[in-house]
Amino acid sequence: MYCEWSADEIHIDKLEIFAHHGVYPEERREGQTFYVNAVLYLDIGEAGRSDDLEQTVDYGAVCHFVTDWMGNNTCSLLEAVACRLAEAILLKYKMLSGIDLEIVKPYAPVRLPFRGLSVRVRRSWHRAYVGVGSNVGDRHAHIKAAVEALRANPLVELRQISDMIVTKPYGGVQQEDFVNGVLELDTLLEPRQLLRLLQEIEKEEGRTRTIHWGPRTLDLDILFFDRLVTADRDLTIPHPDMENRRFVLEPLCNLAPYLRHPATGKTVSALLRELEPGESR
Ligand code: ADP
Ligand code: MG
Repeated sequence: MYCEWSADEIHIDKLEIFAHHGVYPEERREGQTFYVNAVLYLDIGEAGRSDDLEQTVDYGAVCHFVTDWMGNNTCSLLEAVACRLAEAILLKYKMLSGIDLEIVKPYAPVRLPFRGLSVRVRRSWHRAYVGVGSNVGDRHAHIKAAVEALRANPLVELRQISDMIVTKPYGGVQQEDFVNGVLELDTLLEPRQLLRLLQEIEKEEGRTRTIHWGPRTLDLDILFFDRLVTADRDLTIPHPDMENRRFVLEPLCNLAPYLRHPATGKTVSALLRELEPGESR
């Protein structure tokens, strides 16, 4: 699971596995030797104190899991092996916060002399805060559908749901009151993948983008993503203008009052305090 500070590591070096990954039919038919190197990130403090295997990740079990996975799956690309296996390991061993995984193909059919050929990926759990809002139709049902869709996604662990609040619409367009809330989740998705998932869920609930700041069956916004600060045309994190929106800060404060805005360093509760009292922004 997500952990901001776990700096401890378990290393697996050169685990040798016979498997059938490759683009060429001979590779898939005959198979070849692969090596797997991994760095597992977790907090081993408890295990260090208690000397109890239950408090850590059993590296023997991980080696067997990797060997079975490599043997039971067939991919064309090393990229696919690395990405899928890293994800599978993080989903299986929830105590891990992240992994560096390298798949080495020492006998890759290149027909040139080389020492090593590998793909290495780094994957970890992320902590995201997602704003939810609805002001059309059965507003609570739309929000519930979003929650269920996120729960059903294996790459998302929904951790907390804030109280839902009813607010006046923002931006001066005549419309129904909003129901707003915030979700806290851990995810293996990267920011753009999470945005795509949220947009699919919005679409599923019949949201059409017509008037900016106009009525919407469901609005899902990424408020925070780890401590990421990024500004792109289609993705800005933290969510732009969130510090001026009571309907974001109030439910966020409900879940994580001490969370700090990664750009300004201000806590969510301080940002909420700074809004004019009663201001319905
Ligand atoms: P708002 O949520 O600001 O009321 P919209 O939901 O209509 O307005 O805005 C949608 C657009 O905002 C999307 O096309 C998306 O690419 C962009 N966007 C930028 N940053 C984010 C973010 N952090 N979360 C969600 N959408 C974002
Ligand atoms: Mg939005």
